[in-house]
Amino acid sequence: MTAAILALQGAFAEHEALLHTLGIDTVELREEKDLDNPFDFLVLPGGESTVQGKLLHELDMFDELKKRIAAGLPVFATCAGLILLAEKIENDDKRYFQALPVTVRRNAYGRQLGSHRITLSLKGIGEVPATFIRAPYITSASPDVEVLAREDDEIVAVRYRHILALSFHPELDMDEKLYRYFLKHVVKEDAQAEKVLPFSA
Ligand code: GLN
Repeated sequence: MTAAILALQGAFAEHEALLHTLGIDTVELREEKDLDNPFDFLVLPGGESTVQGKLLHELDMFDELKKRIAAGLPVFATCAGLILLAEKIENDDKRYFQALPVTVRRNAYGRQLGSHRITLSLKGIGEVPATFIRAPYITSASPDVEVLAREDDEIVAVRYRHILALSFHPELDMDEKLYRYFLKHVVKEDAQAEKVLPFSA
C-alpha cells in the first residue's frame, strides 16, 4: 500500500513518519511528474491553504489531482487539507478541489486562540489527542456527510465517501487510530467498490 503525500508546504513529514510506522510506503508529491508514481491514497497535510493552492496551480498539479479526487481517490486531509477539499470557504473567495460538500471557516478560533490541544471523542474511533493550530472548522455540512466529531458545537471531523477530513493534526501526536480507521474503512471500502462497479454499471 502506498500513500502520496502533498509535500509542497506544511506538516507533511510527520504524516510520512506515522504512515511508515504502519508499514505504508509513501511518495512525496512535489512536482507534476511525481503524479506518475502509482499510489493508493492521498494525504493533504496542514499548512497554509492559500500557499498550497497557489503552488498546486503553479506546478501544474491542481487539475490532475482534482480529477482524481473527483473520481474517487481516497483522501486523508488535515487542517489546510480540509480547506482545500471544501466546497465553500466562508471567509475566503478562493475555491480549490471542492470535493467535500461542506462550508468551512478558516482560522475559526481567532488569532489569540490559535492553538490548543484536547482529547476528542470520535464516532466509531474512540478518544484521540487533537492538536488544533490556527484551525478551520465546518460551519455546515450536507446531510450525506457523516459527522465524526464536534468540539463544543463545531464540526471538526467528517467522513464523506472516500474522504476523511479533520480540523486538527493527528500526525503531530503520533496517534495511529485515525489512520487505522481510514485504512480500514475508507481505503478498503473504495478498493471493494471499484471491484463491484463494472458489474453494477
Ligand atoms: N490557517 C491555515 C489556513 O487557513 C490552516 C492551518 C493549519 O493547517 N494548521 O490554511
